[in-house]
Amino acid sequence: MGPSHRELTRLATIGQDGELVMDQLRYAGVVHTDPDDPDEPVTDSAAGATAYASGVRTYNGAIGVDAQGRPVPTLPERARAAGKASGLVTTAQVTDASPAAFGAHVPDRGAQSEIARQYLEESKPDVILGGGEDRWLPPGNPGAYPDHPPTDPTEQSSSGRGDLIARAEQLGYDYVSTRAELQASGARKLLGLFANEEMFEQRAEGQGDIYAPVVPLDEMTQKALGVLSQDRDGFFLVVEEEGIDEFAHRNNAGKVIQTGQALDRAVDVARRFAATHPGTLIVVAADHETGGLAIENVDAADESGGGVSAEDGPFTVAGTSLQFSVDWTSGNHSAESTPLTAEGPGARALARVQKNTEVHDAILEAMRLR
Ligand SMILES: [Zn+2]
Repeated sequence: MGPSHRELTRLATIGQDGELVMDQLRYAGVVHTDPDDPDEPVTDSAAGATAYASGVRTYNGAIGVDAQGRPVPTLPERARAAGKASGLVTTAQVTDASPAAFGAHVPDRGAQSEIARQYLEESKPDVILGGGEDRWLPPGNPGAYPDHPPTDPTEQSSSGRGDLIARAEQLGYDYVSTRAELQASGARKLLGLFANEEMFEQRAEGQGDIYAPVVPLDEMTQKALGVLSQDRDGFFLVVEEEGIDEFAHRNNAGKVIQTGQALDRAVDVARRFAATHPGTLIVVAADHETGGLAIENVDAADESGGGVSAEDGPFTVAGTSLQFSVDWTSGNHSAESTPLTAEGPGARALARVQKNTEVHDAILEAMRLR
């Protein structure tokens, strides 16, 4: 979620005279996202999330390990050691790179069943909500979300670590797979898996692209806050809207807007929570930009011919008759710095230009865990 993703969502949702909730937070900063990778100067989500979670720059693909492959403690692990609760919420697989870097240590982000095992047996987040059921069940056990669904026939259970849902229940987690079960649960340890893989279908516009999560991100966030805030020592929660990145990879700006709105509603939930829990620090950040996105006036004589870049739109500026188009210069990540906004105790330290690892340091400081 680079600067243009936030502006795109703002223009299409609020227009020129208002702010998204995420942009109403009191402090703003800018984040450099460089990995420490021998081959690539542009980060992936694994290195980007490890920087936020553990305060080290590392190689692309690394989950909770430094550039030499050594495990490095994460914010939720430090929180847990101090008696606090922790949670992971995402619309991706709960074992995908971004949440994984907050709760596991593996040299390669592909090891998603091992990541799930580490959640249960080592890092022990109190709340785990998102997609990725296929990584928790062995082949032949389809679970609540059937193998080979029509929306994506390639999906099937693939755990190489046995039945990890059964293991979670043995260890005291309440496992839920529907919106109603999630709402009804009163458990203090909660595992919710609401899709085989991502909680949406990331495709180009009109090619089967779907964003309609079984449980909306803001509802998962609300539930997680309700569970975690019962811990009087405090908590650390990471919430990810994965669709912004995935749909940017597909140059699908319409769905970037929709997923940006979903994130903003989750930020609104967090902000309402903070209003009644004044010790709460909220940080809205991104691990990297995707797509090399630019916002432009509509121009039929644009430069995009010849496969140089991809035009998308036009879109309407909310509340006006003005139209704009967007231009995608890549289907991959870029080294663009990302915007950060924050509010609450310690937020002022984030109001500057900084490395992603320094965001970690500021959060650690704010949680008094240094
Ligand atoms: Zn990506």
